[in-house]
Amino acid sequence: MSGIGYKVAMHNETAAMKVDELKQTLIQRKAELSERQERVARHTRHREEPLPPDFAEQAVELENGETLVALDKKMSRELVQIDHALHRIEVDQYLDCETCGGPIEEQRLIALPHATLCIRCANGSSARSIPRTTH
Ligand SMILES: [Zn+2]
Repeated sequence: MSGIGYKVAMHNETAAMKVDELKQTLIQRKAELSERQERVARHTRHREEPLPPDFAEQAVELENGETLVALDKKMSRELVQIDHALHRIEVDQYLDCETCGGPIEEQRLIALPHATLCIRCANGSSARSIPRTTH
């Protein structure tokens, strides 16, 4: 998919194209995850179903089903995040941080297309348990 036929709004051309690219990435990733998840589910139910080769490293630990379950959960979580990000694109809030409303850094979205927080808020989230005394 290259740029032929891009219809880009007059304002903020670069960002619009970037979002479109990231949207494609998200859609692809979603399809990939759905397929993998399906395979994991089949493997969990019927052990004869072979795992895709790129599961090889996880497969080492597959003596019990636990790793697959964990993997499945991880993929489910990511799928939810991807759906959420796609929705944010639809409603034109993709570039807005969900916590502070500020812009999410472009580099961050490129590295993590389903990010919903700006770097500052994402980093701050680990400190969230500290009670705010400043009211
Ligand atoms: Zn923020």
